[in-house]
Amino acid sequence: MSSTDITSGKSTRLAIVIPCYNEEEALPLTVARLTDIIGSMVGDGLVSSDSYIMCCDDGSRDATWRTIRNLHASNPMVRGLSLAHNRGHQYALLAGLMTVRNECDAAISIDADLQDDPRAMIEMVKRFREGAEIVYGVRRSRQSDTWFKRTTARGFYRFQHSMGLDTVYDHADYRLMSARALELLSSYGESNLFLRGIVPQIGLTTAVVEYDRNERVAGESKYPLKKMLSFSVDGITSFSSRPIRMIFYVGLGLLIADIATAIYVLLSWIHHDVEPGWTSLMLSVWFLGSLILMALGIVGEYIGKIFIEVKHRPRYAIKEIIK
Ligand code: UDP
Ligand code: MG
Repeated sequence: MSSTDITSGKSTRLAIVIPCYNEEEALPLTVARLTDIIGSMVGDGLVSSDSYIMCCDDGSRDATWRTIRNLHASNPMVRGLSLAHNRGHQYALLAGLMTVRNECDAAISIDADLQDDPRAMIEMVKRFREGAEIVYGVRRSRQSDTWFKRTTARGFYRFQHSMGLDTVYDHADYRLMSARALELLSSYGESNLFLRGIVPQIGLTTAVVEYDRNERVAGESKYPLKKMLSFSVDGITSFSSRPIRMIFYVGLGLLIADIATAIYVLLSWIHHDVEPGWTSLMLSVWFLGSLILMALGIVGEYIGKIFIEVKHRPRYAIKEIIK
């Protein structure tokens, strides 16, 4: 569908997908802003007038769903879906993308807090109309983030790359995907979802649009450090077996060190200068103990993943859809 659009110059039917968790404060502002942007793109003939905004309520505890319903009542561009329970940003986003995939030419995912400049959507749609099927929104600056968030985020990307993950630097989940890219995404059936790792694997023609990152319009971050850390571990163990290999190398190195130590101990024993080695004994016990625990932790992480995957549970459950 999308390719005929481009050649015929027909405008694109765009769906904007917003995962929302406790966003009752931010949503009205966000939807108003996005409605304006769609309006201006309709005016410029970039997108068609049946473009829409899909708000995915990720089992919020506040009045987010009621807010979405009210917005829908007053604004025909607003659609909504409500997940049966809170599954996390990635799953809410996937639920939204899979719901809109047959009813759009392209979908843009964006957070409810408008930290990602929505004006970049215009460039994204232009790149799409020039033939790109996946357009990554990439942060030009992170001035508005706290020093702590900036540093941990940078560490997160570096670590991912050193672990062999093919993510796009400074790209979060603000991106455009064509209907075809969404179709391909739908065939990735993994339960441990890390879209930033999956999407670059889809292939197709890609493009990058830079934008400035702002403050949240309202509400507070749903990604404290604890969640960021677990997200990072998930990202790595879902895509790379390098940690397992690293443990093997550490084990190998220790084995060599062990042999050397054994030779030294034997030689000392032969020369009768054996000390009552309590210190070295305790040190090695603690050292080895912690190493073993670390290795077990990593192995356990993978086994946990296998456990989740073999169950083939549904990745999200939709309670209600409003169109
Ligand atoms: N979100 C979600 N489910 C969750 C947590 C967050 O759908 O369990 C949504 C949230 O409403 C927002 C987006 O994911 O639209 C990103 O969250 P947030 O802005 O709090 O993260 P940050 O930008 O601070 O990393
Ligand atoms: Mg945010």
